[in-house]
Amino acid sequence: SQARPWNFSAGPSVLPESVLRQAAAEMLDWHGSGMSVMEMSHRGKEFGQICSEAEADLRQLLNVPDDYAVLFMQGGAIAANALVPMNLLGRSDAADYVLSGSWSVKSEKEARRYGDIRVAASSGTVLESDGQQWQPWTWVPDAASWQVRPDAAYVHLCSNETIGGVEFSDWPDLAALGASDAVLTVDASSNILSRPMDVSRAGVIFAGAQKNAGPAGVTLVIVRRDLLGHAQAACPSAFDFANVAKEGSCFNTPPTYSIYIAGLVFKWLKEQGGLAEIEKRNIAKSALLYDYLAQTGFYRNPVHPNFRSRMNVPFTLHDAALDAEFLSGATARGLLQLKGHKSVGGMRASIYNAMPIEGVQALVDYMKEFERTHG
Ligand code: PMP
Repeated sequence: SQARPWNFSAGPSVLPESVLRQAAAEMLDWHGSGMSVMEMSHRGKEFGQICSEAEADLRQLLNVPDDYAVLFMQGGAIAANALVPMNLLGRSDAADYVLSGSWSVKSEKEARRYGDIRVAASSGTVLESDGQQWQPWTWVPDAASWQVRPDAAYVHLCSNETIGGVEFSDWPDLAALGASDAVLTVDASSNILSRPMDVSRAGVIFAGAQKNAGPAGVTLVIVRRDLLGHAQAACPSAFDFANVAKEGSCFNTPPTYSIYIAGLVFKWLKEQGGLAEIEKRNIAKSALLYDYLAQTGFYRNPVHPNFRSRMNVPFTLHDAALDAEFLSGATARGLLQLKGHKSVGGMRASIYNAMPIEGVQALVDYMKEFERTHG
């Protein structure tokens, strides 16, 4: 069969080819049931098996403790920006947000409709460090500087800013910051399952599936069970985490086909050796690109070295007038969807789990060739 092009989309993004092939083979008849997964009742035993295996595999991959519920929901991470305050601000009204780029800024803005929201820290200013200046949203505020109110119900962060290419290397222990009553809430949409994560550090982790976990349409929510049952009165019943947890993600009809594909991705991840192995590959893949960017003056990545994302690598050409030619040459070589987000410009290579190192090497080879012919 003909090799597929390398797809660098930020999301929805590349999926493992073996997953797509299995879905194709099972499209008309899932495991002898005579039905496509799309045609099954969400209350039947077949889908019951698909959903419970997906949950068990996700729990195993992320080492999710038993006192956390795993929910398959809808609405994506943008809906979760409202669902987190609606579900957690039933008792205390206060929540604090750490701003590190477009997505956390969006989360904070949405939350303001549901509670008393403050900014705990922000990287929206120029950082002076070691005689160098780092522009807004190219770094992560040090946890020691966060201003967390004693009555905050939670502190929110975005673990990987997909647009800026800024990633938290780990999550702080809030108790050590003197905020022992608050829980951390994390938008992990673009780095979930790319590395082991200490779930027990967070009260809620949410992620749209369409980068590392599967197709659009399902949102993963991992929530500590003692936080359930305190939703604001106006929270829609289908979005009350307690209802969804009680009904095993079937309070309403869940996005069954998306859950099925996500389940295949979880099995693929287990076959690859789990998240420790995937993390090694992601380190090697991102290093290949960052090492090249560090030694060329032709391209530039603006992010502080301590916070460079392993998943999303934005870069600019030294002359933006060459952008269109760079992109059309890339497409001609089977390197797809490299155009950067409009707010940052330039290029962005998203190199999620399903992008093999050969794809990153093909990109670096093309970048070198383009530098040679245009430098
Ligand atoms: N948060 C992050 C970190 C994202 O990358 C995205 C999608 N690019 C979103 C939130 C929004 O996700 P959705 O469109 O699925 O609501």
